Amino acid sequence: MPAATVAASASEATSASRAQMMDVAVVGAGFAGLYLLHRLRKTGFATVVFDEAGDVGGTWYWNRYPGARCDVQTIDYSYTFDPELERSRTWSERYATQPEILRYLGFVADRYDLRRDIRFHTKVTAAVWNQETERWLLTTDNGGTVSCRYYIMATGCLSSPKPPEIDGVKNFKGDVYFTGRWPHEEVKFAGKRVAVIGTGSSGIQAIPLIAEQAAHLTVFQRTPNFSLPAHNGPVSADRVALLEKDRAGYREQARWSLSGVPWQRQTVFSWQLSDAERRERFEKAWARGDLVYLLTQLWADQGVDVDGNKLVADLFHEKICAIVKDPKTAAALSPHDHPVGSKRPCLDTNYYATYNRPNVTLVNLRDEPIESITASGITTSKRSFDLDVIVFATGFDAMTGAIMAVHPITGRGGQSLSNIWANGPKTYLGLTVAGFPNLFMITGPGSPSVLSNMVVSIEQHVDWVVDRLIAMREAGFTTIEATETAQAGWTRHRADCSMLTLHRLANTWYTGANVPGKAQGVMPYTGGVGSYRGICNEVVSRGMLGFRLTGPSVPEQCNDGEIVRLQPDVRLVLNMMADMKLPPIESLGAQGARAFAAQLNAARPAGRPVGEVVDGILPSADGPLPYRLYRPATPGPHPIVIYFHGGGWVLGDQQSDDPFCRDMCRRTGMTFVSVGYRHAPEHRFPTAVEDGYAATSWIAEHATEFGGTLGPVLVAGWSAGGNIAAVTCQLARDRGGPQISGQLLVCPVTDCMFDRPSYNENATDYFLTRSLMYWFWDIYCSPADRTNPRASPLRGKLSGLPPAFVVTCEFDPLRDEGIAYAEGLGAAGVPVEQLKARGHFHASFTMVDVVVTGVSGRARMAQALRRFAESHQDMTPSEKSVRQDRKVTPPAVHVATG
Ligand code: FAD
Ligand code: NAP
Repeated sequence: MPAATVAASASEATSASRAQMMDVAVVGAGFAGLYLLHRLRKTGFATVVFDEAGDVGGTWYWNRYPGARCDVQTIDYSYTFDPELERSRTWSERYATQPEILRYLGFVADRYDLRRDIRFHTKVTAAVWNQETERWLLTTDNGGTVSCRYYIMATGCLSSPKPPEIDGVKNFKGDVYFTGRWPHEEVKFAGKRVAVIGTGSSGIQAIPLIAEQAAHLTVFQRTPNFSLPAHNGPVSADRVALLEKDRAGYREQARWSLSGVPWQRQTVFSWQLSDAERRERFEKAWARGDLVYLLTQLWADQGVDVDGNKLVADLFHEKICAIVKDPKTAAALSPHDHPVGSKRPCLDTNYYATYNRPNVTLVNLRDEPIESITASGITTSKRSFDLDVIVFATGFDAMTGAIMAVHPITGRGGQSLSNIWANGPKTYLGLTVAGFPNLFMITGPGSPSVLSNMVVSIEQHVDWVVDRLIAMREAGFTTIEATETAQAGWTRHRADCSMLTLHRLANTWYTGANVPGKAQGVMPYTGGVGSYRGICNEVVSRGMLGFRLTGPSVPEQCNDGEIVRLQPDVRLVLNMMADMKLPPIESLGAQGARAFAAQLNAARPAGRPVGEVVDGILPSADGPLPYRLYRPATPGPHPIVIYFHGGGWVLGDQQSDDPFCRDMCRRTGMTFVSVGYRHAPEHRFPTAVEDGYAATSWIAEHATEFGGTLGPVLVAGWSAGGNIAAVTCQLARDRGGPQISGQLLVCPVTDCMFDRPSYNENATDYFLTRSLMYWFWDIYCSPADRTNPRASPLRGKLSGLPPAFVVTCEFDPLRDEGIAYAEGLGAAGVPVEQLKARGHFHASFTMVDVVVTGVSGRARMAQALRRFAESHQDMTPSEKSVRQDRKVTPPAVHVATG
């Protein structure tokens, strides 16, 4: 061993031997650290807490700038673990001031006698795991060391102020303040020329109050934010009434809500509301002055869809323009570069109106960036400002800053956390890191944390961690560590969740974009507080899934795996269905099953508007078949897609996949004709496929009357409808037409064998069950007929068929036969593209606006259909011009809905 290493080890050993021996060391004495200490001490763990600050309070100790308040209503933004504590204090305002919140945390510290175990003015500077002793050794800036079994970082998501990246700060001769490190004594602005740099929540709270005092205030704004007036005042009577009525119920609802405040999910979509109704909802939110309400209660698509969100942004812009008198200033204050809510919105008192004051100037740094700070003030690319005071409201190195500031954090095998996180934080549950045993992070990256009422998230993390430590102690375990598999799975799940919301579309501290050089990616968990809580509970109920536990006299336990493999919204849907305890569809009989399916369909979100929806009847050899036509809003002619709905040849009709047809019509710019083919048991095999073929032939022949382009049609279908589409292509090839330029098969039934792995893996838990498929087959087709290629197209000749796009879902019994069909087509020389949808189930793509993560899949399907149509553009230019813009009425129709 090299001498230096020997020396280092020797000094480590010495400091370890001098170290105070504790069960648990907690870093941070804010909301999280205080509650941790209370719980750990109550359960008998010898615990010490460190904080760099001079007293308790964390955020509320440091952020003493004028106007600092909470922006989640205080009755929600307070501890809930002790009803007696709740009852012992009342809040004086809806949004309490920093001094009041700090007094509250001081009161909590006194009530539970916490200060005696907290070492203030003590910064933890490094943490090293010793594999032999299975303990962490923490070093502090005042020379003391602590050896602890468990190391819990309650260091805060917004506690490490970001250094100003502006040249010359040190040259400035006036006073400099940082909102996140505000002095304890009063700062006087009267008669002074003051600059505020930064217009995030801190700047927006401070600016109106500084403007009231300063001789002149110049605000340097890089990015405007959306800000809602707080209308602060007495605690909201309606919320208090709700709380008082059932305190425990109210708190429990908050714990299972989206963002830690008890509001129901909105179910009405923006397109279901008129302009006036949307405006009314927005006005109500504006008057209410509640960010959580504004972000969740307008319409269901406001946070997940750019179009739904833009409607909110437009209403915001109107408000700003109505308040701010100078149009240029109003325009500069109006955010246009990010969706509402994707960057943390703010809550203010008189913010926009402050710009109407004669002593306030807004400098738009997008037009004139700061070049330097000089001895006398700030110089931009266009002018210089002489100043007495500069206030930096420039924010924090959020989520990871305070964790990484303890450097190094050295885990098992000498690996350093800063190396492991070089490309962004990797965690399991946002609580633990593989390779770092017995380390926990409260509200760490990868947990809901800053996307929630943080006190709710803090209490959930503290309870989870302390409960685990108790359980480990009881079972004789002394170490706990996340596995690499679990961590990789969580990273994937987080990425899936981040596709659900619009946070990824903004450059913010949520994504690390505010700190130069920081790895970027959405850091908080966007799947919601309630879902997250459910997942953490499930980890426990599944035997500490994804954790390795060891102890001196018990066998190692490692139940390895990924906690969530489904897409987050699929998981939600399946959980909801499980909670509803729906009867097995196959137990209802055909009529009962149809009524049940119709009931489910009636409860789903209405599809989005298209140009025109027309119901009609088309003739077939055996009689008329109903159809529903969806025409795009663009001028025709449009390519025609003949669509076959799902339902196991037994259920559904031409309207039953309405949202899917609307969505695909909008995405493709094509006319979709959904055919009401006949069903079993009244009409068994081969009626459905023969109806499909007959309808396709007839529509192709009458394409121009449907407003369709000349030339081949396309076919598409989902599930049993995919079977009909596939068979129709085979029949069209064998019977000399019609010409089909492409087939979209979504989770198609292609074969009658039930022994492929996907039938077993997904037999029971994912809505389309094995027994339901048995039932469908039994009703539709006798065993003798099932190997007929018209029932099992996989058994037919696969060459000479139109190009195909085949979609399969991971958690679907039909997955493997869909893949087999795609591979068979490819082997037979048919151009084929596959979408193997990870984490999705059989109904993912047709549950439009419910399974939001299905969007990218439908976008790919639409691309494929457009490609198929374009590759068969065989019309001459004169043929096209004859048909252009011709207004058409399909035969035998009536208009159903718009
Ligand atoms: P903190 O309160 O940040 O405490 C962490 C403590 O750890 C700090 O005292 C720090 O000094 C200490 N520490 C860190 N590293 C070390 C180290 N190496 N050694 C020693 N000590 C260390 N959230 C909401 O939900 N609603 C709100 O209305 C709201 N308002 C906010 C207003 C402001 C101005 C800010 C900045 C944040 C706000 N937040 C709000 C987020 C807020 O940070 C959390 O709500 C909550 O206070 C965090 O508590 P915590 O205990 O996790 O961390
Ligand atoms: P912030 O939201 O990150 O805002 C920082 C501001 O400074 C932004 O406008 C940023 O512009 C600007 N900025 C940063 N560096 C700059 C530079 N070099 N030059 C010019 N401008 C620069 O930070 P914050 O306002 O402190 O708030 C952080 C979070 O704390 C909030 O989002 C919220 O979660 C919490 N908070 C809550 C409240 C409350 O109301 N309860 C109050 C304060 C804070 P860009 O946007 O262009 O980066």
